[in-house]
Amino acid sequence: MNTDDERVVFFDIDGTLLDTSDFAETARKAAIGLMVDNGLPLDKDEAYGVLKTIIREKGSNYGKHFNVLTQVVLGHEDPMLVALGMITYHNVKMALLRPFPETINTLIYLKSQGYRLAVISNGITIKQWEKLVRLNIHSFFDEVITSEEVGKEKPEKLIFDVALRKMKGNPEKSVMIGNKFKADALGAVNAGLSAILINSDITEDDRAYIKKEQLDIHVLDDIGDVRTIL
Ligand SMILES: [Mg+2]
Repeated sequence: MNTDDERVVFFDIDGTLLDTSDFAETARKAAIGLMVDNGLPLDKDEAYGVLKTIIREKGSNYGKHFNVLTQVVLGHEDPMLVALGMITYHNVKMALLRPFPETINTLIYLKSQGYRLAVISNGITIKQWEKLVRLNIHSFFDEVITSEEVGKEKPEKLIFDVALRKMKGNPEKSVMIGNKFKADALGAVNAGLSAILINSDITEDDRAYIKKEQLDIHVLDDIGDVRTIL
């Protein structure tokens, strides 16, 4: 194996490759709107509040939020309303799914530099592949490693270890690109990789911590700026 082949760039998906700002909220509100218009006996704000509570209790990756919503409100499941909610949610979300303007150019650039690419994502494997396929960027990636598959979420070291093993990557020559300071950047650095943060939630305290601990974390505004480092 050429030593260059050990260089892997791992990406997070949501908020990193894809612009997911407000995406789930808009889709949920559209779904609730149609469910209320078709007989769910609450006003839209109340119904949205109930749905948010269910999502908080069950987690966002639970697959049956709308089933539970009808059970809670009606005392029984209403299959027509559940189907309406699910399909509307799905359609709106897919319609809003879009890469950042510089995502595709950056992926092309990284491949041209000889990096191999993979995804490390806290999420459900098929759902995450679905996003990549819908955006037609799936062929850039050799592997998608998810928390569903590994049984641990970022920032746990195990998910990074599994990803490196699957990709036969050398952690010292590999980098994680994500938008979350703790999950993506600290997790990666703890597993021996370097990290690049883009569109991140990083605070001044986090920046001070990076400096104090001399962590190998770069903070960039835009995915297009990755080429200034790699
Ligand atoms: Mg993310």
